[in-house]
Amino acid sequence: MYWCGSSSSSGREIVAKWKSVANHVQDVHSHDNEDFPECLHLPLVGDQARHWLKPSTAACEKLTDIIKAPRLLKDMEKMSTDFQTSSIESYHSVILKFAPKSVAFSFIGMMCRTQLAAVHYNENSKRIQATTREGELRWHILYPRYKRGDYSVRPLKTNPTFKYVDELQDLVFDAVLDQPETYQDFLRQIPVPADLCSQFYQPDKQEAVARHTSRFFLSNN
Ligand SMILES: [Zn+2]
Repeated sequence: MYWCGSSSSSGREIVAKWKSVANHVQDVHSHDNEDFPECLHLPLVGDQARHWLKPSTAACEKLTDIIKAPRLLKDMEKMSTDFQTSSIESYHSVILKFAPKSVAFSFIGMMCRTQLAAVHYNENSKRIQATTREGELRWHILYPRYKRGDYSVRPLKTNPTFKYVDELQDLVFDAVLDQPETYQDFLRQIPVPADLCSQFYQPDKQEAVARHTSRFFLSNN
């Protein structure tokens, strides 16, 4: 559904792509529809072949009814082709820059980094399109995998700003250093949960092995 929206330029195209799923699951990859005449994937052979649904079976009819439900199609036609969840995705990628997954942070450390990411994101989420010195709009070209060699043209945004860094520095030097106790007290009041692993039950090894083997025994009989 996401792909149908993000890869289309009209409501009709979104709906055509979506309805093609009903054919695809029955191993039919060309569609009687000028907005989306054919699946974009290469022929599915060998390991790529699926257990296709057989036409007119109950399972197939049921799924087809869901895919082609008139109310759903009407809604899908109105789906945005541009702005689904891309802002959430870019927010998540900002969080990853501030708190990379490869590093383990304390609870407070993680909280601070997530908050910094939010502040950075809020300051920069509405950046406008950059222009050249001559005043012409700037663009960049992307080659997303789903377009299989085809490209998308996207507006190039102005560089991010970091005004929040100045504000935070002012806060630290003008207020926090002056009266650290207030801030330290506040920090101590934050409820820090225990480590996740300490909340789990850890059986002893013998018990775990015994349960594993009895389960294995049961599932083979
Ligand atoms: Zn297909």
